[in-house]
Amino acid sequence: MKSINPYSGELLQEFQDHTEEQVENAIKNGQSAYLSWRSTPLSERASLMGKAAEVLRSRKEKYAKIISLEMGKVITESRSEVEKCAMVCDYYAEKSEEFLADEPIELPDGAKAKRVFDPLGIVLAVMPWNFPFWQVFRFAAPNLTAGNVGLLKHASNVPQCSLAIEEVFTEAGFPAGVFQSLLIGSDKVEKILQHPHVKAATLTGSEKAGEMIASQAGAEIKKTVLELGGSDPFIVLKDADISKAAETAAKARMINFGQSCIAAKRFIVEEEVYDEFLGKFKAAIEDYKAGEPLDEDAGYACMARPDLAEELYQQVKKSVDLGAKVILEGMEPEEGKAFFKPIILAELTPDMPAYSEELFGPVASVFKVKNEQEAVSIANSSVYGLGSSLWTNDLDKGERISRQIESGAVFINSMVASNPHLPFGGIKKSGYGRELSVDGIREFMNIKTVYLG
Ligand code: NAP
Repeated sequence: MKSINPYSGELLQEFQDHTEEQVENAIKNGQSAYLSWRSTPLSERASLMGKAAEVLRSRKEKYAKIISLEMGKVITESRSEVEKCAMVCDYYAEKSEEFLADEPIELPDGAKAKRVFDPLGIVLAVMPWNFPFWQVFRFAAPNLTAGNVGLLKHASNVPQCSLAIEEVFTEAGFPAGVFQSLLIGSDKVEKILQHPHVKAATLTGSEKAGEMIASQAGAEIKKTVLELGGSDPFIVLKDADISKAAETAAKARMINFGQSCIAAKRFIVEEEVYDEFLGKFKAAIEDYKAGEPLDEDAGYACMARPDLAEELYQQVKKSVDLGAKVILEGMEPEEGKAFFKPIILAELTPDMPAYSEELFGPVASVFKVKNEQEAVSIANSSVYGLGSSLWTNDLDKGERISRQIESGAVFINSMVASNPHLPFGGIKKSGYGRELSVDGIREFMNIKTVYLG
């Protein structure tokens, strides 16, 4: 397994994949850790999670640098990512006792019962490279605090991040086996899912990986949470603050150089304000400065791998060949290089990839619509349903429209962002289940009924 700087192409480090025997041992260790971890008082588990937050903060620079060098994110964004991981650890350290407290139930016949929350055991986490720390902590902070144990199969291009995350939990004082990183390819996942000690799986990744993992886990009757792709709409109605909408739209498309599931990808604008929005949006995107991943003032550096840049460009090329209008030109990536420049496309039709597929990088698709009904209809025409952003100065209207949009979240007059306090997840091909908030910590719990006769 290779750790390669996508900006320079330099090989940073090489790792031996874990053997079948090592994986088997990790499962055994995870299971024996689980048997004592589940009966460790919740307050102690929460306190260790608070320590994990401290480790993250004290080693922020080290981890931010690993992230930037391994997947090309600019260093300022990597620092924010590490801080956000510390925040989610603190959140569950503080809130888990409340979220997992027994809930009394009174029955009509006067009998009493309780809803209690028991952990399940080993949960396999299959994770992507795009937010290589955050995606993992979003799973680990609630689940470890709740008494489950984690086995991480991270994306193959971020092995250093994978091992660094294991280090965080070890340094925080978690018992051995409660969180382990496996360096394995995706072909090893099915066998792990079949292991009787592995009780459930969570995947953050592509629709294709979701289909595989859901069907393999389904064959074993094991629960999954799937956080998959998105093609989030960003709807701008004519009564919105257009300057603010355009500036936020650029940020929502450019964050993590466009490689975010909840990045706004389809900009749907009422015709009366279309030209004004497009002019301001284009100018705001052009303001982003290119640089190296470790440049303090770079707005973007490169895509996470050369093949991702090439794949994205092919989606653009196919759309342009089918008649899409180029508003901002970008560039064709050089073979074997991960460099890319932002692109804006308009005049899109459903047969074009820029209309119907997820564009996982800095390419914006812009649509001109006659009214809010058409805006909602285009927003809902995607197979995905992760997040959506809606801009209007009439909040009542915003709330009314938000109920018509098919997605897991609607942010009015704001870009979509994950936040420990808010449930996160999608519908349609964006997956199922929720992470974060109270919902996230209960996904992999046995919600047990205890009847008190
Ligand atoms: P990916 O190719 O699906 O990889 C994600 C993870 O799944 C990696 O660990 C990968 O391992 C593994 N994997 C891939 N195919 C698999 C299979 N057939 N069986 C088992 N495991 C498999 O996705 P990506 O390119 O890294 O990430 C981009 C995608 O993730 C986008 O679609 C994005 O929208 C989505 N995403 C969703 C969210 C969300 O919260 N909804 C957040 C971030 C990203 P290898 O690396 O070894 O192939």
